[in-house]
Amino acid sequence: MKAAFLVGKRVYRVREAPDPVAPEDGIVLAVEACGVCGSDLRRWHEGPPDGPGSIVGLPGIIAGHEVGGTVVAAGRAVRDYAVGDRLAVAPDIHCGSCFYCRRGLYNLCDSLHFLGISPGYPGGFAERLILTHEVLTLGIVHRIPEGLSSLHAALAEPLSSVLACHDKAGTDLDHTVVVMGAGPIGCLHVAIAKSRGARVIISEPSETRLAMARRFRPDAALSETGEAFVAQVRALTEGRGADIVICANPVAATQAQAVEAVRKGGRVVLFGGLPKATPMTTLDANRIHYGDIEVVGAFSYHPTMHALALDVLSRRLIPADDLITHTYPLDEIATAFEVASTGEGLKVVITP
Ligand SMILES: [Zn+2]
Ligand SMILES: [Zn+2]
Repeated sequence: MKAAFLVGKRVYRVREAPDPVAPEDGIVLAVEACGVCGSDLRRWHEGPPDGPGSIVGLPGIIAGHEVGGTVVAAGRAVRDYAVGDRLAVAPDIHCGSCFYCRRGLYNLCDSLHFLGISPGYPGGFAERLILTHEVLTLGIVHRIPEGLSSLHAALAEPLSSVLACHDKAGTDLDHTVVVMGAGPIGCLHVAIAKSRGARVIISEPSETRLAMARRFRPDAALSETGEAFVAQVRALTEGRGADIVICANPVAATQAQAVEAVRKGGRVVLFGGLPKATPMTTLDANRIHYGDIEVVGAFSYHPTMHALALDVLSRRLIPADDLITHTYPLDEIATAFEVASTGEGLKVVITP
């Protein structure tokens, strides 16, 4: 099969790799779509981690973890899946036995592994992908609903964490929600907050991105930054501030603004991580204390959110064609990453 190996900083090499063979208790998926995630872009900038590659004897890693495809081979012991089944796959594989797994908090598992990220777990930027027994039982694999394309199904992975975030934040009809950052994730936040009945304000300094975000029908779109942004949010909320502010970008300064722009008793969700080298942030602790403000984290999701995401996509609650602005065959993965890194489009998807 053909597979794309990340072999250096910003260097992908598409080459032949051994055809995957279905293990006795596993399956082989023909990858039809695999989204480029922000974390894939980060790894592309940094180059592959030191240590063994994805496939023994071949340098580099096969990344990609937002997968939609069709089963093309199944081992003899596999009962739940058959050739021809269409599946969506998310990366997280939990251990099933640690403190958190025993409580069903799989996203917090002490030894999480990720398809397309962890050593020994090749991902979806390839023609085929093995789903082992471990992935099938402890990973996140769901059937794609009839009528939903594999391309759109690849959005289920990023959408899952957005759904989990709004579940946690309790986004509702009487809320004004501010989304900071109009990348593909920010646009998903706008669509889901709207679906849950909230008024939504999107904040993004880039006019190009703001224009794309308008397709997701926010009630207001702000390009202001700093104090001007906070003033605009207050002006749109009778001086109070927003009920919920979601930080969907990797910029520490905007987290401080989020605390200024939220109302007393409101919630700030730190949805996007900060760069590894600079993870510190400064927030007005007195405003959080006297304003009874909740500042919470949000990472990954329970597998049920992935099933819900597929349902949400098949009900067309997300304008998937507006979100996916670029698709590229595997051979053009280098171009795909260049385009994704400019931020001039939204979601970029590889279609092997
Ligand atoms: Zn991702
Ligand atoms: Zn665990």
